[in-house]
Amino acid sequence: MKKNIAILCSGGDVSGMNPALKRFVEYTLEKNMQPYFIYDGYEGLIDNNIKEANYCDVSGIINRGGTKIGSARSKRFMQAKYRKIAKQNLDTLHVTMLIVLGGDGSFRGLHKFYKEHKIKFCGIPSTIDNDIAGTEYCLGVDTALNMIKYSIDAIRDTASSFKRAFIIETMGNKCGYLALISHLTSGSELCLIPEIAYDLSAYEHKFKQEIKNGRRYFIVIAAEGIKQNSIEIAQWFEEKIGIESRVNVLGHLQRGGNPTVKDRLMAYKFITYAIDGLMQNKNESVICYTESGFHHKNLDTVVNTPYQLDYELIKFISS
Ligand code: ATP
Repeated sequence: MKKNIAILCSGGDVSGMNPALKRFVEYTLEKNMQPYFIYDGYEGLIDNNIKEANYCDVSGIINRGGTKIGSARSKRFMQAKYRKIAKQNLDTLHVTMLIVLGGDGSFRGLHKFYKEHKIKFCGIPSTIDNDIAGTEYCLGVDTALNMIKYSIDAIRDTASSFKRAFIIETMGNKCGYLALISHLTSGSELCLIPEIAYDLSAYEHKFKQEIKNGRRYFIVIAAEGIKQNSIEIAQWFEEKIGIESRVNVLGHLQRGGNPTVKDRLMAYKFITYAIDGLMQNKNESVICYTESGFHHKNLDTVVNTPYQLDYELIKFISS
């Protein structure tokens, strides 16, 4: 009898989910399994919005951001009675394996689901925040970084023409990864992230001096999780440095866009290793990527270990 396996996307969508869905369908069919799509995350699992998937469902999606099967945040999944309904829906369809593309919140939900109902699963880290312990890479991060890069490059054109300071706010929740990498790769003047305490007054003399020496503009990358909001930082530039300032909150454009080659390849690999692991009875893991390759890590460890930004990266901007 064919084994039935399902996939869902949960939490914030990322660019790379569609290439992952394509590989999921193609690889499971190749392995003589029956793939199922669960639409709209844990909500669809509770509402039995679960359908057989085939090649036609994934044709023409590899170049599209977002996720064809939808993602969601589900308050109901926080409650045991709805997780029980979710399990009954999977049982009715004889689905015995589940792949979840999501962030740490989604994995916390999965953790409870597993403890109560023992469904075989594999989690694939998928969040632009890149804040999941145990993996150096989460699906979608590279596309998000490239979207930020395009935005900063464009803003630089106008900033240099007008003699302005631009505060560019990036996503990342409490993690400064997107901001820090964007800073290191875009030549911005200042990077503010939640992981490093800062005092703007420490930059006042230096920035004023730079203007005297001919600097025409400043680009500041501010992570959304820092103590001040971007408007306050812009006001500081106007009042203390004496330069006209503007704020650009990049917002949801960071989630979208055509998946980069890296995200397409990572999607392919994450899915392949996830399915291989399930077939080898790795029943409760998150597939993590480190320099040494892909590893199945225990879900308990992943959800209960606080994420820490790479110290090597932090050192680059700590003085
Ligand atoms: P992102 O990093 O993009 O925000 P995420 O997976 O962390 O992704 P969350 O909104 O934190 O996104 O979680 C997604 C869903 O996972 C929630 O809407 C909820 O259904 C489920 N979930 C999160 N935490 C729990 C929990 N403690 N118990 C049960 N379910 C949970």
